[in-house]
Amino acid sequence: MSDCTWLWAPQAWIAGRWQQRVLLQIGADGHWAAMQPDVPAPPQARVLAGPLLPGLVNAHSHAFQRAFAGLAERREGEQDDFWSWRDRMYCVALRIAPEALEAVATQLYAELLQGGYTQVCEFHYLHHAPDGRPYADPLAMSHALLRAAQATGIGLTLLPVLYQRAGFTQPQLREDQRRFATDVQLLLTLRDGIRALRQPRVNAGVAIHSLRAASPEAITRLADALAGDDAPIHIHIAEQTGEVDDCLAATGRRPIEWLAAHVALDARWQLVHATHATPQEIDTVARGGAGVVICPSTEANLGDGLTDLPRWLRAGTVLSLGSDSHVGRAWPAELRLLDYGQRLHLRQRNVSAAPQQGQPSTAAHLFERLRAGGGAAAGFARWGLETGARADWLVLDMRTAGLLGVPPGLALDALVFATDAPAFSEVGVAGRVVVRQGAAQDSAGIAQRFAETLSRLWA
Ligand code: ZN
Repeated sequence: MSDCTWLWAPQAWIAGRWQQRVLLQIGADGHWAAMQPDVPAPPQARVLAGPLLPGLVNAHSHAFQRAFAGLAERREGEQDDFWSWRDRMYCVALRIAPEALEAVATQLYAELLQGGYTQVCEFHYLHHAPDGRPYADPLAMSHALLRAAQATGIGLTLLPVLYQRAGFTQPQLREDQRRFATDVQLLLTLRDGIRALRQPRVNAGVAIHSLRAASPEAITRLADALAGDDAPIHIHIAEQTGEVDDCLAATGRRPIEWLAAHVALDARWQLVHATHATPQEIDTVARGGAGVVICPSTEANLGDGLTDLPRWLRAGTVLSLGSDSHVGRAWPAELRLLDYGQRLHLRQRNVSAAPQQGQPSTAAHLFERLRAGGGAAAGFARWGLETGARADWLVLDMRTAGLLGVPPGLALDALVFATDAPAFSEVGVAGRVVVRQGAAQDSAGIAQRFAETLSRLWA
């Protein structure tokens, strides 16, 4: 019994369904060593008070934007859209030094853990000092994120971003994009530097900001350089119709169409947003095995448009969830918004349910698809409550108002569609409890440093 821990849950989400009276064993390496349903709790097991869920991966984050959440909800002129939001977001990007980024990211990661995410993929493009000059340590800003992950206990997939130009016909960066400047060589140096740290619960892939922000030559050169690497490659794609039009004008192809024609869109590729995709593009992505990262609250906040979710689901695409600009920080609300967007658009209910596949529950079908896809987006071969996967878990607090008296088999449905407050009493990452009674470790101190940092930022 040494070097392992035993948990027992009244029910647990295993292999896409609730199983009852489950005993789970955590190995010394922080991964699940075994799990067995339909057994009574043995004396050595810690008995959990509620149903057990796997943690989800938050597959798309720009941590610094947490400093700005809720502060761009005013329209001063005739029109407000993604591009005017971006100009205001750049003002924040230009102010944040490593210490401030650490305070903001630590608060964010504590909130994400409390919201049911146990791993976050950081699409990280703030590399240089505010004046644009490189820091003495090129990983100075990355270290701020790594310290935040360490302090909270969340897992981190760090994705340094290739960012070279302002647009399809603008080969230079704008002055207010000076902190982002990278080329393929620097990108690989950053990635290798993060890997060399060998920090627990941290892995590194790469990202390309977008087709507008990287040249075709650099994208194909990077794809060649990554030929022997199985880590994830993330890219913003087809978020805005304006971006699709610019891509068509510059290349004669739509963004997903262009990418599929120039690189092998295999399972390493993660297409963030992919909002504006034709049926042909959806089929192309599904055939190659690439993933799509959907960010419902940010896409709604920015007025991006609705993606053809039913078609992505039917095509069998690998799907994951991101909170992107962090106006939302808990996955149950993201799942609700994901289906509500489709309900409003199609004037139907339970659009994401899959009764023909034996899954009539909208929440359960989305959760299961996003669990599996999130693992792929973060570069894990296994993710969830299964032997060999990292031992991450969430304990549902059935005393939450929206869950009171709910039949156990419908807990996921009520969590997603009838619960506003965070409902996880305990969160574990790699075998260790990091949220107790709904609060991340040192959450009060973290919140105070965050509030002080914001006061200084906005002074
Ligand atoms: Zn993004």
